[in-house]
Amino acid sequence: MYCSICGTEIDSIDDAVDAGWLPSFWDGDTEHEVACPSCWEAVLQVGEDGEMEVKPEYRGKIVYADAENQNQHYVMGIAVRFDAHNN
Ligand SMILES: [Zn+2]
Repeated sequence: MYCSICGTEIDSIDDAVDAGWLPSFWDGDTEHEVACPSCWEAVLQVGEDGEMEVKPEYRGKIVYADAENQNQHYVMGIAVRFDAHNN
């Protein structure tokens, strides 16, 4: 899996848990999955509800790597459908 902020890859969920990765966090009303320790220690804090959230000064300013990954999945989906149509 990948850090949704910097895109760093880690091999397994077990490794990620051992290394202190976060499974999810909030940027305003948007939930993002997975942050590596170097990212979340820099930009996240514990919110009033106990959830990890982006610090106010970083809110809305982070360019997430997970959005890029979603776009790639979307493009792959189109390619697969295009092939099926031709065959
Ligand atoms: Zn990161």
